[in-house]
Amino acid sequence: MICAKKVETDMPLEKLFALFGNPVHHSKSPLMHNLAFHTLGYPGCYTRWLLEDSGKLRDTFIGLGLEGANITVPHKEAAMRAADIVEPFALEVRAVNTLIYKEGKLYGYNTDAPGFYRALKKLGPVRNVLIMGAGGTARALSLYLRSQGIDVEIVNRSAPRLEWFKKEGFVCHTWDTFKPKSHDALINCTSAGLIDDALPMPKPLLDDSLKRAKYAVDVIYGKMTPFLKEATALGLPHFDGSEMLLQQGILAFDHFTDHLYSLDEIEAAMRPFLTL
Ligand code: NDP
Repeated sequence: MICAKKVETDMPLEKLFALFGNPVHHSKSPLMHNLAFHTLGYPGCYTRWLLEDSGKLRDTFIGLGLEGANITVPHKEAAMRAADIVEPFALEVRAVNTLIYKEGKLYGYNTDAPGFYRALKKLGPVRNVLIMGAGGTARALSLYLRSQGIDVEIVNRSAPRLEWFKKEGFVCHTWDTFKPKSHDALINCTSAGLIDDALPMPKPLLDDSLKRAKYAVDVIYGKMTPFLKEATALGLPHFDGSEMLLQQGILAFDHFTDHLYSLDEIEAAMRPFLTL
């Protein structure tokens, strides 16, 4: 594992950070954060911790003497309960992915959706999006994008999960009722393509929607999904879930280091992990 080089500094040495999840063995977060600590000369070290019992999150965090942590599946809601103070957006989506220990209190944040938005803005101006899928990721992204003034429509394979979106006032469709129209970005928040070759919508609906879109985004990472293959064939600018992973990591690192660096400095230090 790469950890920070020792530097001439008046900061205390070796602050410890961790990722909690189950599973965690596959995670690239330690590589990403340790690379940035090393490059920026920050005295931090980031490890991962397999946590089976969500109820033990707070005690484990304190017991390990952590300064901060990221939290992944399935503990994000438990992390919200473990925190003393939770930022309003994380409370709204009931998901904390970043915990910080400061002056005896645990602070909880959600950097997933803001990270996604940071990546989306890099594609160009986006006024409206079509989100495919209605699970936890779609919920967080839809609320955050709307809070940034973006119109959000949702299309999902089946109806039950759309109830929450309807109550929140989003325009919703199932495949049966959906009629393709122009959206700046088409976002795949389904798990179609994750472990199979499925498309997130039936091909005729998807192709029609892609032809009318400016950008395509997939939250799945680690593979070229059938959806992104279609988007690439049409020449659409796009990014995948690894960019979202990077951007949420940049915002978490900003909390870990208490805003010591600009986001651009953190990004320059962290981005090379994508090619490691
Ligand atoms: P959920 O289990 O909460 O929701 C899954 C959604 O996918 C549902 O809307 C479901 O539709 C739909 N779906 C599943 N299979 C298909 C299929 N074959 N065709 C069409 N729709 C399908 O998942 P999450 O919201 O937690 O995660 C969604 C994706 O986001 C996953 O692939 C996950 O890996 C990825 N992810 C990436 C992150 C990143 O940092 N890059 C972070 C978090 C998640 P229905 O309601 O009809 O069942």
